[in-house]
Amino acid sequence: MSPMAKTGIDVVGDMVAWGAHFCFFYETREDLVDTLISYCKSGLGSGEYCLWIVAEPLSVAEAKDALKDAVPDLGRHLAESRLEILSARDWFLPGGSFDGKRLTRSWYEKLASVSARGYAGMRVTGDTTWLTRKDWSHFCDYEDGLNEVIGNQRLAVLCTYPLAGCGAPQILDVVRTHQFVLARRHGNWEVVETAALKRAKAELKHLNDELEKRVDERTRQLRQTSEALHEAQAELAHVNRVTAMGQLAASISHEVMQPITAGINNTEAALHWLDAENLAEVREALGHAVREGNRAIDVIGRIRALIKKAPPRKDALDINEAIREVVGLTRGEAVKNNISVQTQLAEGLPRIQGDKVQLQQVILNLIINAVEAMSSVPEDSRKLLISARKDVGGVVVVVQDSGPGLSPESLDRLFDAFYTTKASGMGMGLSICRSIVEAHGGQIWASRDVGPGATFQLTLPLAGAP
Ligand code: ADP
Repeated sequence: MSPMAKTGIDVVGDMVAWGAHFCFFYETREDLVDTLISYCKSGLGSGEYCLWIVAEPLSVAEAKDALKDAVPDLGRHLAESRLEILSARDWFLPGGSFDGKRLTRSWYEKLASVSARGYAGMRVTGDTTWLTRKDWSHFCDYEDGLNEVIGNQRLAVLCTYPLAGCGAPQILDVVRTHQFVLARRHGNWEVVETAALKRAKAELKHLNDELEKRVDERTRQLRQTSEALHEAQAELAHVNRVTAMGQLAASISHEVMQPITAGINNTEAALHWLDAENLAEVREALGHAVREGNRAIDVIGRIRALIKKAPPRKDALDINEAIREVVGLTRGEAVKNNISVQTQLAEGLPRIQGDKVQLQQVILNLIINAVEAMSSVPEDSRKLLISARKDVGGVVVVVQDSGPGLSPESLDRLFDAFYTTKASGMGMGLSICRSIVEAHGGQIWASRDVGPGATFQLTLPLAGAP
């Protein structure tokens, strides 16, 4: 339970929690009045509802009188029923006799009406000088039951007992039925924690420890799950990349073969010029051969990078260069499918921050999808446009085809995992593209009415953007 505001009783200070049922043994009327004035004043100051049940020899009028000096706007509090001062006979003994059950009901009703009025809490104090030996054991049962009423409510009850009126057996009863005991004797305060309170505190500590242990355990499990999920995602993305590269294997090998063939041709030419002792031509042919050899190495390097499984990187990279490399790798595939590929890459684009291989994977997926989509339209109308330009806060990449386009229904589902309309499709490509782009702080979406077929656009924030 949350701690209540200041009790107004210095000896316990701010240590009391809502739900407290405690008692105060007093020796003198002065001790009683001083303590209760401070208790009520603190409650009113904290916006609580206060109920003071006064017993003889103190009268309701005397209690009001005593409060007047400490609480200047007492009249207003009383008029608004924010503070009620009742006589113990009226509250505890309506009809002249004590009835614990009836009294408990009255508490529940009071609590309901006070909660309905929206107070921060309810602070009660009641004196017991009216209590006779005849009613003592019933009253103890009632006090015991009161702990249940108070339970988890924003309610605090301070019962006051005149020390002179209590023998040892009574004191034991009071200690048993309350959470803790305050006593003022010979001008000194004493605070006694009862066994019940100690037990409750120990229980609470045990529960807290237990809870903390379970929170730790759960956090550890969640961390493990999230790590496993992360790994699975990376695995899946890698499989998708390798699959995409596999789809292009035939065309890519052509891309590698081309420079190698050109290199061999140049070397043969060099041999020929050597026989003719034309060293200038030999030098030129060998220079070509070296360049072609390097080209082949570059292509193989790009292929290896796309196939390799590597941890994600955060580099400042040139998106145009990344696009050009992918377009280069897919050139053979485009030629094979009679697709005319056009690129419009704006000059001098600022660098974006991210993982080149992952972003190339996105563009590769979009290109392969476009190639596959255009297989259903006549060869002379197959066009693929890939563009990159600067936009507010980043770079926009657009992949636009002239295929059959997207249906309104598919538009909502394209990026869902396992959504596919292809007989041998996996339906993971676009879902992985979205994960990659979002992990880069960007967005990816499809439109059906921008170009002749489908248009996919992605935004990527600039390097150094928050
Ligand atoms: P898969 O290619 O395995 O089907 P994707 O997630 O890459 O998985 O694509 C999901 C679906 O989105 C495709 O099956 C297709 O219906 C649709 N789609 C993707 N790209 C295009 C495109 N360029 N034109 C038309 N439909 C497309």
